Amino acid sequence: MKQFVRFKKNGEGVYGQVTPEGVYRISGTPFDRPAPEEWVGQVDDLDLLPPVEPSKIVCIGLNYRDHAAETGATVPEEPVMFLKPLTTLIGPGDAIRMPPQSTRVDYEGELGIVIGREIFCPDPVDARRAIFGYVCSNDVTARDLQRKDGQWTRGKGFNTFCPVGPYLNSDVDLGDRGIETRLNGEVRQSSNFGEMVFDAEYLVHFVSQVMTLYPGDLIMTGTPSGIGPMSAGDVVEVEIEGFGVLKNRVVSAEA
Ligand code: MG
Repeated sequence: MKQFVRFKKNGEGVYGQVTPEGVYRISGTPFDRPAPEEWVGQVDDLDLLPPVEPSKIVCIGLNYRDHAAETGATVPEEPVMFLKPLTTLIGPGDAIRMPPQSTRVDYEGELGIVIGREIFCPDPVDARRAIFGYVCSNDVTARDLQRKDGQWTRGKGFNTFCPVGPYLNSDVDLGDRGIETRLNGEVRQSSNFGEMVFDAEYLVHFVSQVMTLYPGDLIMTGTPSGIGPMSAGDVVEVEIEGFGVLKNRVVSAEA
């Protein structure tokens, strides 16, 4: 497995590769597979950014049987797609801001797929090869507004509603590894990728028959059961086995 981070250096975002000795800067993006260059420090010493720069964030709803059951929905026959605007994207350690319009903002711990090459209407094998890697992500949702509006643009679209990171994990098999969401250290969601209705390769193939996917594009694959609300002052963590811990705090609208 290879792990990449993106961080701020002299005011601009650059990519690095994580090694046992620390982080080495790379030129360009991880998709070009560049060799590690200068050593820049340990991960904890860097000002981390989201490890992806997508042209779009595609999300899948109701992709775990247990989550569909808890929301009273039936498992869809085809993946249900929606988009989050790029202004939702934040990195590890950044604050999730509660919007004043909502009284219920939920965490949704999710696996994010990161695309490594341009595809549109590929065959299934090319769709699979287009997966560069995976990230921990949180599809933060204003649940009351999602229900009230009847579609999800507002409820899913507030600024800061898409924390992603800390690592972009590549050259790795997904398998049935575990995913866990913790609120203030307490486990709230605990599942594994064997519970998904549609797997990563199926989802990439499905989405890429609708829209061209570019390197860096992010597909969030749905959340397992255990969704619940967050309040200002909370700390939310999404951990995928071997892929790192995405940690963000929640702040009030006034903060
Ligand atoms: Mg979701």
